[in-house]
Amino acid sequence: MLKLNQRMVDLGTQRSVIRELFEYGKIQAEKVGAENVFDFSIGNPSVPAPDCVNETAIRIIQETDPILLHGYTSAQGDAAARQMIADSLNRRFSVNLSADNFYITCGAAAALCCCLNGLANPGDEFIVFAPYFPEYKVFIEGAGAKMRLIPADTDAFQIDFEAFESAINEHTKGVIVNSPNNPSGAVYSEETVKKLSRILKEKSEAYGSVIYLIADEPYREIAFEGVEVPYLPKYYDNTLVCYSWSKSLSLPGERLGYVTVPDEVEDHELVFAAIAGAGRSLGYVCAPALFQRVCALCADDTSDISVYETNRNILTKGLREMGYSVVEPGGTFYIFPRTIIDDDIAFCERAKLDYNLLIVPGTGFGCPGHTRISFCVPTERIERSLDVFEKLAKSYR
Ligand code: PLP
Repeated sequence: MLKLNQRMVDLGTQRSVIRELFEYGKIQAEKVGAENVFDFSIGNPSVPAPDCVNETAIRIIQETDPILLHGYTSAQGDAAARQMIADSLNRRFSVNLSADNFYITCGAAAALCCCLNGLANPGDEFIVFAPYFPEYKVFIEGAGAKMRLIPADTDAFQIDFEAFESAINEHTKGVIVNSPNNPSGAVYSEETVKKLSRILKEKSEAYGSVIYLIADEPYREIAFEGVEVPYLPKYYDNTLVCYSWSKSLSLPGERLGYVTVPDEVEDHELVFAAIAGAGRSLGYVCAPALFQRVCALCADDTSDISVYETNRNILTKGLREMGYSVVEPGGTFYIFPRTIIDDDIAFCERAKLDYNLLIVPGTGFGCPGHTRISFCVPTERIERSLDVFEKLAKSYR
């Protein structure tokens, strides 16, 4: 009999709810016409990469020695690219990073896996705040650790500090935060970040071992007017930043991101070595060479996110007028209203079957009674969807 790793078989066969919806949307589009399906299931950027990306890629292809161009880079990434990334962050956040603080990865997913595998010993726990990106559980368990979920602060999608403090124990190795947040769109305020940092410092001292803050930041640059996203290493020394250009430069398929290990991290050279060792053991080798250089050269750039802001404004106002309760997103391209009934799964199923409205139940994000709407779509579709959201709400009255 075939004996496989059952966990992997399960992961490989169970399609996520989001993927299921996305596939359903494609089939429905053939039946009823694409314009009649409101697919708000998936978080794929809907604006093109800025011109800088293709122009730089073409220039590099034309100007670089072809062997170097397509060759391996060092495992932590091309040294010049890492220095350019450091320079960009130093300019923008008044920090003092150098090439040695960076480990370039295949997106934030690989960055998170390198951190988790580099840090975790058997029995370790990582704290995650609901609503959360569901892959965290896969990544944490893949690193042999346990995820401890803190229920959502549904009033503002900041942090329920009471629940957080009581969840920390001698096994807590780290805390993952994601701000701007998928799925709520919330951005942690400076007040939240300061309080979080204070608690982490106190608890690290109390237990006599570092509790790492892992900042998962693929949406850092997608923050709307007037919203500041605090740079976490400035508040807490033992912060590892997992960044990605998937959303900020609309390059999810190119797989580019990095881990930052600042010098302020205790024993930073050892921590860096553990992250590099994890990358090696996971077989990552190095991130795509061409796009390491492209992203580094475009590190100050961002896709035009104005359509996301327009869509956010239309949806927040429109949904509120219809009676949905919504926390206005400070960034990302997601909004996470309360569902009209408590059963978010039934609510999203009705939306799908009766209205061809594809929205994701909050349950999968650890936050029942809510639904995620991905608004990275043309504004015209958002405008036409308002009527559908209204009919859906009215169907419960
Ligand atoms: N973290 C969050 C919160 C995300 O939403 C995503 C992708 O959607 C990722 C990490 C992974 O991003 P990447 O494409 O950079 O691996």
